[in-house]
Amino acid sequence: MKAVIKSSPGPGFTEVDVPVPEPGMSDVRIRVEAASICGTDIHLYDWNPWAAGRVVPPRIMGHEICGTIDAVGSSVTDQTVGTRVAVESHIVCRTCPECLRGEFHVCRNTSILGVDRDGGFAEYIVVPAVNTWPLWEDCDPAVGAAMEPVGNAVHATAVADLAGATVVVMGAGPIGCACCAIAKAKGAAFIVAIDRSPFRAGLAMTMGADASCILEPGTSMEDVLRNVLGEREVDGVLEMSGAAEAIQTAVHLVRPGGWVSMLGLGDEPVAVDFSADVVMRGVTLYGIVGRELFASWEETTRLVRTGAIRMTSLITDRLPFTGEAIDEAVRRLKKGTSGKIVLTREGVRHD
Ligand SMILES: [Zn+2]
Ligand SMILES: [Zn+2]
Repeated sequence: MKAVIKSSPGPGFTEVDVPVPEPGMSDVRIRVEAASICGTDIHLYDWNPWAAGRVVPPRIMGHEICGTIDAVGSSVTDQTVGTRVAVESHIVCRTCPECLRGEFHVCRNTSILGVDRDGGFAEYIVVPAVNTWPLWEDCDPAVGAAMEPVGNAVHATAVADLAGATVVVMGAGPIGCACCAIAKAKGAAFIVAIDRSPFRAGLAMTMGADASCILEPGTSMEDVLRNVLGEREVDGVLEMSGAAEAIQTAVHLVRPGGWVSMLGLGDEPVAVDFSADVVMRGVTLYGIVGRELFASWEETTRLVRTGAIRMTSLITDRLPFTGEAIDEAVRRLKKGTSGKIVLTREGVRHD
């Protein structure tokens, strides 16, 4: 089968022929119908220090996946060939103290598809049967693939009651835009998104933000936001960018007693005035990793199926399932001129 891999330590991906994988006893094999591209894939593509320290080539890339089960392992009794599924990309050990407490998302032995083990930029992928999430009849495979990152937004927005809240979303990539939609659905009173990309700031409005701002080079993020917020106090910040200025602004901007839900990853440590901004003002910081298994998937399904998150708006680009298309997707993501980019077998919509 064709697969897009990291072939050696260094930038870029390569399309190669590899054997079709065989499922183990408790696995299923999925014929991949759609896969979406993530910021993490850009780090892997560029081979940043995190990727260089974690990934051992050769490795099949891709962790946002939808497809149809095509074979099941001998001990799998609750999954059927022909079922269309999305895939939870974090494979957890189920034996560490966190897993035993049911906090699977912070499993200390998490293995990530397309990072620590072979992923889904391929015709087939083998995953543990427990990592599949059955989709509804007629679910567009592109939507199925993008449910994994939307699940991150569901998790990040679950930290507080958003009803009546004034919320700032920092970083309007696909997860930030999904946060806008969820905050709207949960009754937030005022949602402001901020991003460097005018396209993404616009997409945040389409998805549910009440206002959005473009962060121009040389301007202060806090000034730009205060200008839009006027007299409003910020109850919570959804920090999806990982940028140092965003994190510093978040803890400073939020009202006393407010909260910051942090999902964005930066490249280096960030200096924060914890005494003045966090401790003395009673601000709560939440680190958000992955999705709650499987509460985030249940809530994601509900929000997508009811149309609270309009996936047809969030998915802006559909490309064919080829190595060259992934190169093109990486270029587009770096330019900030797209929302979610999905590779599909046909390069078109199914719904
Ligand atoms: Zn991802
Ligand atoms: Zn564990």
